[in-house]
Amino acid sequence: MASFKALVIDAPGTPPRLAIRELNRAAMMPGDTLVRLTHSTVNYKDGLAITGRGPVVRQFPMVPGIDFSGIVEATEDPRLKPGDAVVLNGWGVGETHWGAYAELAQVPGEWLIPLPVAFTPAQAMAIGTAGYTAMLAVMALERHGLVPSQGPMLVTGAAGGVGSMAVALLAALGWSVTASTGRAAEADYLRRLGATAVIDRAALAEPGKPLGTERWAGGIDCVGGQTLVTLLSQIRAEGAVAACGLAGGMDLPGTAAPFILRGVSLLGINSVFVPRAARIAAWDRLARDLDPDKLATMTTTVGFDDIVATAQRIVDGGVRGRVVVALT
Ligand code: NDP
Repeated sequence: MASFKALVIDAPGTPPRLAIRELNRAAMMPGDTLVRLTHSTVNYKDGLAITGRGPVVRQFPMVPGIDFSGIVEATEDPRLKPGDAVVLNGWGVGETHWGAYAELAQVPGEWLIPLPVAFTPAQAMAIGTAGYTAMLAVMALERHGLVPSQGPMLVTGAAGGVGSMAVALLAALGWSVTASTGRAAEADYLRRLGATAVIDRAALAEPGKPLGTERWAGGIDCVGGQTLVTLLSQIRAEGAVAACGLAGGMDLPGTAAPFILRGVSLLGINSVFVPRAARIAAWDRLARDLDPDKLATMTTTVGFDDIVATAQRIVDGGVRGRVVVALT
């Protein structure tokens, strides 16, 4: 095959100039491994890239899509062989290296991990960067020493991808989970994932006292901005928040009071460049701790032609849970 189908962003803008078109294989970016892609997903970052609402893509032409699963077609990496099922999350794929919304990808083998035996390629993309990030957040809170007997956890942006995964994982691990959402209609959905309580995100959106009532042992925050500041002000002494998202803002308009007067910790999560061994450890935990029925509850599937519309919906806050893209 001298060419392959891809969604291509050709020039910046809001929205950028993009089209589904054929790309020349000879023009692919360097990489010792060629993968035939079967599934991808639409994350918030993909939404920012495709709508141009965030500076995710800075070189053109670019194939967006930060996550894929697929089958190795050819490789020079001694850890891999043709026919292996693999998964990729992040590493700048879909940002600086041609990405997942395509029939083929060429990447360094170092960026690929084996598809966990617990999951199909479609399930791996239902998890995607969102689920893997939620698991990194859970593991960071565990490393901090938090245990369920210390009190409830709050998850913000709970009806989104990372949030849904965080609710399901924390509940499976025995935490009492409160889900914060702006979508009251998703309260039953969040309870099905394991939330014991659901609160309106408006309660976290207004500036309050530097130290509020101590309510939560910890939290996983997908929203940032005032929401993260309010959450920090309500964390119990020696608790922690794993911060992974900016769906509500990149700023941090708060005070140091929770850190210096309650010993609260803010744990930053960046899934993109986590070393390979730590990725495999997170995926092993997903295989152990994620209930496949809950994964199915939070997943919808779309086709190649639906990627752009789904990207628009995710940045508008209209996607519930996770979206798998069936590429073939
Ligand atoms: P989703 O769009 O699926 O979820 C985001 C959720 O945030 C929405 O569903 C909504 O939840 C809430 N939200 C959206 N806009 C606002 C707003 N203005 N104010 C308050 N809440 C809002 O995205 P993902 O789950 O894929 O990603 C969540 C965030 O995490 C993104 O910022 C993303 O970039 C980031 N991320 C970071 C990673 C990392 O490595 N650090 C990896 C993966 C994601 P609800 O409807 O329930 O209110």
